[in-house]
Amino acid sequence: MSYFTGYNRWRVYLLEVIDTIFDMKTIRKLQDAMCAIYLDRDRRRGVWGTYLHFLEESVELGKAISSGSNEDIADEAADIAAWLASICNLLGIDLEDALRSKYGDGCPKCGSTPCRC
Ligand SMILES: [Zn+2]
Repeated sequence: MSYFTGYNRWRVYLLEVIDTIFDMKTIRKLQDAMCAIYLDRDRRRGVWGTYLHFLEESVELGKAISSGSNEDIADEAADIAAWLASICNLLGIDLEDALRSKYGDGCPKCGSTPCRC
């Protein structure tokens, strides 16, 4: 193995680590974006009205899964994530912190990754 081959393997590894770090921050970015775009409207609608939209999108996700179209599934998954972020904004919950707290160390029941329950 040449020096550059080893260097490139480390470079690829480091880029994967950086991608992972940024991926972990996308939840907060998503929540911040939903706050900037929709907070005023979400406040007028209220948490229960926002929750009903979240439920409606959950039903639509089920329909999309039944359709088998990954494009439709991704579209509905994005809607669910957006409505969940709006609910968290209304209630002052940091979704990323909540996810890290509950799942950051693996399965919350057995503590393993992958889960061994
Ligand atoms: Zn488990």
